[in-house]
Amino acid sequence: MKSQTNKKQFDYLIVGAGLFGSVFAHEAKKKGKTCLVIDKRNHLGGNVYCESIEDINVHKYGAHIFHTNDKKIWDYVNNLVEFNHYINSPIANYNGELYNLPFNMNTFYQLWGVKTPEEAKNKIQEEIKELNISNPKNLEEQAISLVGKDIYFKLIKGYTEKQWGRKATDLPAFIIKRLPVRFTYDNNYFNDKYQGIPVGGYNKLIDALLDGIETMTDQDYFENNAEWNAKAKTIVFTGRIDEFFGFKYGKLNYRSLKFESKTLDTDNFQGNAVINYTDSTTPFTRIIEHKHFEFGKQKKTVITKEYPQEWEEGKEPYYPVNDTINNDLFIKYRDLADKETNVIFGGRLAEYKYYDMHQIIASALKKAADFI
Ligand code: FAD
Ligand code: UDP
Repeated sequence: MKSQTNKKQFDYLIVGAGLFGSVFAHEAKKKGKTCLVIDKRNHLGGNVYCESIEDINVHKYGAHIFHTNDKKIWDYVNNLVEFNHYINSPIANYNGELYNLPFNMNTFYQLWGVKTPEEAKNKIQEEIKELNISNPKNLEEQAISLVGKDIYFKLIKGYTEKQWGRKATDLPAFIIKRLPVRFTYDNNYFNDKYQGIPVGGYNKLIDALLDGIETMTDQDYFENNAEWNAKAKTIVFTGRIDEFFGFKYGKLNYRSLKFESKTLDTDNFQGNAVINYTDSTTPFTRIIEHKHFEFGKQKKTVITKEYPQEWEEGKEPYYPVNDTINNDLFIKYRDLADKETNVIFGGRLAEYKYYDMHQIIASALKKAADFI
């Protein structure tokens, strides 16, 4: 390479304006580095992006509730924007019967009429005792050993198999461990200490992170990667890791979603932000009524039905499928990534990990601290 071509315009080219790319860019700027952030979508923010419809912040890529146990992460985001006091308390609709989530004393009362933690524990114990599951090998075994068969069949199996398009016996146990099981009358979906939604929506958070940083949308890195690479000393890549390496070992699999949104001429359609449809015949998994995330008082409402889909090229890769085949394939790509000297890989797609927002921020802060 000739020496004059080494003159780079930016310290970092950041591929992907999602939360990972935005936090990394913010940290780099603080340290006096220059960044260009590009995204192939026509907006910034990645999957946390909100679209304003009828003055309601519509979570365009699915409901996003911020939660964390880490005070440093909570302080970090609160230093950028104000958060409201929203607490996620979804309702499950099983063939018309309503139950509180996550699995707690309200759910146990609604299902079995039990009123004390002891009665609830005995009921679950009774359901699982003859099964003898000591080391749950898959999601079904994990779920039954936590909450018994009744809850598994009414509130978990149908939802999970729709969501993942696979038998619960073929899914990893960790997915269901995301949900709390508690023996108190507490409908808070998360156990974390801190929770809320940015006042005015997630775009405010992304705008604050990217304030003063050069950004370009509608730019796919792979359409001209040589030209993009020439612009910066280091690439921060938050897209699909298998695509970065030209699918050399084959394609990683993802789960996708289709969102069907409607504006309705009513001020309150379902009385809650999130209602899950846990039976196996309703084709969607949940209906989101976006205004309730911000206690909206608008005259109209916007609802979104979420239909899980098998992923194929051209659809959005929303969830990594962390089964053994895909995890093994990912490790091969990660070994290649480890050999790259001027590329930093991060985020849900490049790390092929079922990360929540607070975990993405923690991971971006760590990478920024290690590499900048
Ligand atoms: P992304 O947001 O996916 O950003 C990556 C960006 O890279 C995208 O904008 C993409 O367009 C861009 N890109 C990819 N390839 C290229 C390319 N070749 N050229 C240019 N740009 C490219 N987390 C929570 O904490 N709470 C929740 O309630 C929650 N709900 C969720 C609901 C759904 C339906 C989904 C899918 C996720 C949810 N999450 C939630 C997780 C959260 O969305 C992620 O943790 C976070 O948004 C990931 O940020 P990221 O930057 O890694 O990825
Ligand atoms: N889940 C379920 N019933 C529900 C909600 C969730 O069985 O009513 C299971 C399902 O397998 C799902 C997992 O719990 O994939 C994690 O749920 P979460 O709400 O965290 O999913 P996400 O927000 O990531 O889509």
